[in-house]
Amino acid sequence: MLYEAFVRKGASIISTVKTHSYALALHGGAGAKAGEDYAVVERHLSKLAAQGEAMLKQGKTAVDVVEDMTREMEASGLYVAGKGSAPNVSGQVELDASIMDGTTRQAGAVAAIRDVVHPVAVARAVMEHSPSVMLAGEGANGFARTKGFESVDDPAAYYVLPIGVSEEDVSVSDMQHGTVGAVALDTHGNLAAATSTGGVFGKPAGRVGDTPIIGVGTWADQDIAISCTGTGEYFIRAGGALTIANRYKLAGDTLEQALWHMLDDVAALGGDGGVIAISSSGEIAMAFNSDGMKRASVSNAAPPAATTFAPCR
Ligand code: ASP
Repeated sequence: MLYEAFVRKGASIISTVKTHSYALALHGGAGAKAGEDYAVVERHLSKLAAQGEAMLKQGKTAVDVVEDMTREMEASGLYVAGKGSAPNVSGQVELDASIMDGTTRQAGAVAAIRDVVHPVAVARAVMEHSPSVMLAGEGANGFARTKGFESVDDPAAYYVLPIGVSEEDVSVSDMQHGTVGAVALDTHGNLAAATSTGGVFGKPAGRVGDTPIIGVGTWADQDIAISCTGTGEYFIRAGGALTIANRYKLAGDTLEQALWHMLDDVAALGGDGGVIAISSSGEIAMAFNSDGMKRASVSNAAPPAATTFAPCR
């Protein structure tokens, strides 16, 4: 198939010095709208990148850092994840999240979970304190309750509309979306990835996108860590993150080529979105074919930088 015909909106490729290298990339979703001012979001992402860099310099593990970054984004109300999520057509906020540790290849996910402040933390508990990889719906709710995770007691008061999202957006089912994600390489050489979302607006009850599916919305192994954002149905049908990993590891693609291969397939199917990825050598790639992707990165070779519409640097 020829992919050159598809719109490729932006990409940032950053190389990292290998010795004691660390690298971190964050995204706040590829549902950014052209013309909208995301300065507040970009400042938040820059601050988080600096915070994540400090954690990596202290020797914190990649999985701790990606969980922490994702928790901060979930709690901020600035993104369509956690506090910034909108109710489905049945009036309930259902959230998806996943996390993967590239070194151990352990993974955890929750789908259509309700009333938890930090879905990614529950996903990590599924990874570390259950025999399962994914828990969904009532099972996920019950697991979170049993483990004592912070709950949302008054959803109507807790959830807010993030910047760039209107009441009208959330009431129509046209696949507009948002998500948060983080990928990291720590100073010990471990890679990890995490992704969390409120999903697409106007979604039916029980709808689950790509975000909690290990190998689609999130993937990490010893060579690559990936977090996707976009219209989840198309990412699922394009194979998502594991398609990128396999292109990179087995087909000889560069990191950037592997991202575009999968994103072009998403476009061919009619969807759009973006991906952030880090390789074991510390290369960071961030690419999107939507209007923009809120994102930030930092590494031992480059200071924290955030943008939505332009290449980072
Ligand atoms: N991928 C998410 C979903 O389909 C939405 C997004 O990334 O913006 O649920």
